[in-house]
Amino acid sequence: MGTSKTCRLSLFTWKTVESKDRKEVVPVCPTHGNVKGSSRDFGNGIMFICQEGKTHLLNHCTQQQFEDEREEAIARLHPKAAKAAGAG
Ligand SMILES: [Zn+2]
Repeated sequence: MGTSKTCRLSLFTWKTVESKDRKEVVPVCPTHGNVKGSSRDFGNGIMFICQEGKTHLLNHCTQQQFEDEREEAIARLHPKAAKAAGAG
């Protein structure tokens, strides 16, 4: 199955996707496991929806919660990269 590792945290399930020359850690649908989701502004936060089949809500949170959980997901999925970034 290669390197398609996911990381489930309290708000979202996260996955590394490669686009062009860079890797990004993004929320994915735990059911469909794809990255067709998209984000939308939601009050003072953001919401993520999955567009596979019948469009459904993954979760919503504040921008700060999103940033915090993404950092945790990056640390779990890419411990070396997270350390390197912190060293700068
Ligand atoms: Zn889905």
